Amino acid sequence: MSDLAQSAVGLSAGWTPHAAARGAVATIDLDALRSNLAACRAVTGEAAVMAVVKADAYGHGLVPCARAALEGGATWLGTALLSEAVALRDAGVGGRVLAWLAVPGAPWADCLERDIDVSVSALWALDEVCDAARATGRRARVHLKADTGLSRNGATPDDWPELVAAARVAELEGLVEVTGLWSHFATADVPTHASVAAQLSVFDEALALADGAGLRPEVRHLANSAGALGVPRSRHDLVRVGIAMYGLSPGHDIGTAQALGLRPVMTLKARLASVKRIAAGSGVSYGHSYVTDHDTTVGLVPLGYADGLPRAAANVGPLRAAGADRTISGRVCMDQVVVDLGDSVAAAGDEVVIFGTGGPSADDWAAACGTIGYEIVTRVGPRVPRVTLGVTP
Ligand SMILES: *Cc1c(COP(=O)(O)O)cnc(C)c1O
Repeated sequence: MSDLAQSAVGLSAGWTPHAAARGAVATIDLDALRSNLAACRAVTGEAAVMAVVKADAYGHGLVPCARAALEGGATWLGTALLSEAVALRDAGVGGRVLAWLAVPGAPWADCLERDIDVSVSALWALDEVCDAARATGRRARVHLKADTGLSRNGATPDDWPELVAAARVAELEGLVEVTGLWSHFATADVPTHASVAAQLSVFDEALALADGAGLRPEVRHLANSAGALGVPRSRHDLVRVGIAMYGLSPGHDIGTAQALGLRPVMTLKARLASVKRIAAGSGVSYGHSYVTDHDTTVGLVPLGYADGLPRAAANVGPLRAAGADRTISGRVCMDQVVVDLGDSVAAAGDEVVIFGTGGPSADDWAAACGTIGYEIVTRVGPRVPRVTLGVTP
């Protein structure tokens, strides 16, 4: 049995029949997560840290990552969906929690009952939160979101005064407490982009207006990982750290993961399902977009686009196999890819590192495939078990 299989068997959490079938496992290193948070906090100084754990903690596992983040010094957790925040509480996770993406009829009352702060960008949401406060007898903790230039969620500068005034009225009625004022960057990964300075100043104006209306929030927050690490003035009271906590770079201009002192949290591995010699001139995988120019050994890696490997990785996706850095040969299939191993010695069952410790990084994958590291880790599919290392008892 390989080391990988042994360690996974020893850690039965996450060891499933799927893993036994192909040795594919995403190991999640919570020591790395805690160390990445420490590296961020060393830079961000006084600001409190919100660990962003939306989308199953970027594919790493919601609850173990949230717990590790709190151990690593985060005092807030952030999710997109209200249901993700509810799942945290129902698993017994503490800390402050903010959830920010909702449609009319979203489960506001479930959040209030669980001491979850909710984000409000529009009057309809404030109305629904006030209704939930009346229904539950709980005062809602609300972060008002300003659109300072992303044109995504948040109230525009035109709509901000009315939202702030209505929130202040709801405060005086005892229905809500405005605990936060916040916004989100469009281009913080390029700190010199003109929109960064523009958003900082629109945010300052939004804060001043809210102050004038009598709001006294606990936290003002604007920075994601890129802002936290690359735009000091954006840190305010709280920074919302996602990608850097998972050990990936927030963008070229901020620095590589290595330069930022970040370690990969997720390592995706599998075991070769087949190793064989094929002749020069053989077409490899669907469409024969790779043709061997010499007699060679090919290995079959049992992971494909159904597991999150981008189809754009055809002939460019990097991996570590048979003791060297290699590139996927030919197209990515639903469940498998082929890699040309040349004349290297290999056997079925040998371990392959797709990305993470001991192999290329998810950022290398992103660069090869024209995407971002976020997408590489977030899309690793549910058929790949997560084996979590470094869980504090
Ligand atoms: C996802 C997200 C973050 C975290 O962004 P990173 O770039 O991963 O640090 C912060 N704030 C909001 C509103 C988000 O949606």
